[in-house]
Formats: sequence, structure tokens, C-alpha cells
Amino acid sequence: MKKTTGTDRSITSRWRPATRAVRGGTWRSEHGETSESLFLTSGYTYDDAATVAARFAGEADGMTYSRLQNPTVAMLEERIALMEGAEACRAQASGMAAMTAALLCQLSTGDHIVAARAAFGSCRWLVDSLLPRFGIEATVIDSAVDDEWEQAIRPNTKVFFFETPANPTLDVVNLQHVCDLARSHGIVTVVDNAFATSALQRPLDFGADVVAYSATKMMDGQGRVLAGAVCGSQQWIDEVLLPFQRNTGPNLSPFSAWVVLKGLETLELRAMRQSENALELGRFIEPRVAGMRHPGLPSHPRHDLAMQQMTAAGPIFAFEVPGGRAQAFALLDALELVDISNNIGDSRSLMCHPASTTHASMTEEARAEMGVTEGLLRINVGLEDIEDVKEDLDRALTAAGL
Ligand SMILES: *Cc1c(COP(=O)(O)O)cnc(C)c1O
Repeated sequence: MKKTTGTDRSITSRWRPATRAVRGGTWRSEHGETSESLFLTSGYTYDDAATVAARFAGEADGMTYSRLQNPTVAMLEERIALMEGAEACRAQASGMAAMTAALLCQLSTGDHIVAARAAFGSCRWLVDSLLPRFGIEATVIDSAVDDEWEQAIRPNTKVFFFETPANPTLDVVNLQHVCDLARSHGIVTVVDNAFATSALQRPLDFGADVVAYSATKMMDGQGRVLAGAVCGSQQWIDEVLLPFQRNTGPNLSPFSAWVVLKGLETLELRAMRQSENALELGRFIEPRVAGMRHPGLPSHPRHDLAMQQMTAAGPIFAFEVPGGRAQAFALLDALELVDISNNIGDSRSLMCHPASTTHASMTEEARAEMGVTEGLLRINVGLEDIEDVKEDLDRALTAAGL
């Protein structure tokens, strides 16, 4: 294996984001392939016993077992780290594997965490149901109210955990404020950046410590594989995350890593075009629905902040229909082009009803508190011609009586 310039930080640190996305992290075999190789191997062989002993002792570089290292996965990790502006990254089997690892690797019994109320359903389950079983207390707050973060801090608070924009209510967290506050209290911020990705928002630039990903969404971008990633400082990854990951094994398969590597090459193009399409669709339907939640529209309570933190508002927005679940279902059932699907980040436009899908496992009170009403619909706007998507929504809104 020959490392290319893409693995040399003294060179890649000068590269601009688009170059990093295409060339970052690439290694080449003796064949000199242009596209990254797919190493479907669980183990490795060695020329002699001393070589493997040195690798296990940490005295020599090289692969030993694919739960610890794999060339294809390593290429993806370096590419994500470069795009994120992180010292290091470790890929995970899924977004939820990434969130679980990012929290459990650093929390112990007796610790306290402050988490955003508006969050992906499974992220809330980690905070509300899993952590308390291990004696880790959580305070769940309205993440869009800056003061609530400080008010929730206790002497044993170790972690702040949030998404921005949040799934599915599109709540926007003030990254600079929350990261500064955490820093001044020695608290580690863990930001779930799945909605924006590094193409639209880089939390580390605002002082975040850890960025965790569902790479299933915008990074793959074509709805093919589950994947996740955790980025942070080299020291944090080596000393805090790696002991947990290497011994619990939430690793990404090389095949999925390869698929995401290909996705990253076009991430910025897709994120920008899908953001444009989402803004156009949002403007088109806003006059016909209540409760539009789109960070790119002036009606969003934190529109200005979102536009300071993000280069574009992203492909996802939500809105409410007044007739509750029946009207929301009527609208979904009248769609011809847009698919009913709970996935996001795909190049296809997809729409779902969070209360009965992504957030169905939460109690009705918890849903109501975070704004997931029976009339809420979430849409991921894809790469189709936006005129076709507008026509479809126009037809479906009319069919649903809107
Ligand atoms: C989808 C999603 C996750 C979970 O990711 P998986 O890859 O499905 O495990 C976590 N956080 C957010 C914000 C998501 O949208």
C-alpha cells in the first residue's frame, strides 16, 4: 500500500474542502488504482512473528485485525476528519452506534449529561432510557433557549449532547454560545451533525469537542448503507473513544465504508443543490400550511443564527397540517413522485410523519413537548427537478384539502 498525498497532513492541511472530499485519505495498492480499493478482509498476515508482535505492542504501524484497523475504513476516517477539520475520526456501524459510542465511552455512573429535548427518537432513547440504567443522570432542555444550558449545569455535568438543526423539528442550537459555555465548565460537547454535515456546518469551528454522525444520511446520500462516524481531537479519540470501540466492536464494514467514500466525493454538490431545492419548495408551500419549520426561511425563529452557522439550510424541513394525523396521512397518500419514507439525506425526495414513525416510540407527552404533533410532516428534498416536486406537492396539498 502506498499512501498518497491525501494522507499527508502537511499537504492536505493546505487543501480546500472540495479537494479534501475527493482526494483526502486515499491509499493506493501496487496496482495504482484511481478509485479507492475495497479491502474485504477481517484479518492480516505477517512476514514474521516479530512484525506482528511490534504491531500489537504499538511500536510499528500496520493492520492487525479489522475490528482495530482496515485500509478502506481508514481511508474513510481520514477523509471525514479532513472535511470536518478534525484531528481524528473513527467510523461506526451506524449513526446510532456512533452516538452510543460517543456517549458511553466517556460517561460513568454518577455523571450527568445535559441533552437537547428536540432530537432524533433513538438519541432521546439513549438519554432517557439507556443512560439512567447505568446511573448516568440526564437533564433534557429546550436547546433553542440559550439560558437553559447554563441553568442545567451541575457539578457532575460531563457532556452536552445535541443536534442542530434537530430532527424533525429543525430547532437550531447556538453553537458558539453552547460550546463556549461548555468549555468554561470543562464539559465535553457532543454534536450530532447529521442534518448539516461538514458541507454546510462545521461544529468544531465553533469550539465543539466531538462531532458524531449518521453517515447513512447526507454522506452516503443515495440511501444505500448504514454508517456512522465520531470525530474529535487525536488525544480524545485515542484515549477515550478507541478503548471503548476496539473492545465493544461497533465497527463499520469495509464495504459500507467504500460506499460512503464515494458519496463524500459529491457531498458538497448534493448538499448545496438539495438545500436550494428545499428552499424553493419551502417557499412554495409555506403560504398553504401552518407551522413551517425551515431554517432557511425568515419565518424560522432562529433563521439569522442558522444562516450565520450554516452555509445553506440543508435538504430537510417540516411543516404542520391543521387536520392532524388524518390530514397528514391524506397528503402522504396523495403523493405520486415523492416517496413515503422515513429516511433522509437521500437524493430522492422523501416524506414522513414523525409521530407515527421516527418518534413513535416516545410517549405522547414527550412528543408534544418537543413539538412533534400529529399534524407534523417532515420532508427531505432530493435532486429531482424541483418543478416536478412542486407539482407533486401542489397536487397532494389540494387532495388533502389544503
Ligand atoms: C438518522 C439519524 C441518526 C441515526 O442514524 P442511523 O445511521 O440511522 O443509525 C442519529 N441522529 C440523527 C439526527 C439522525 O437523523
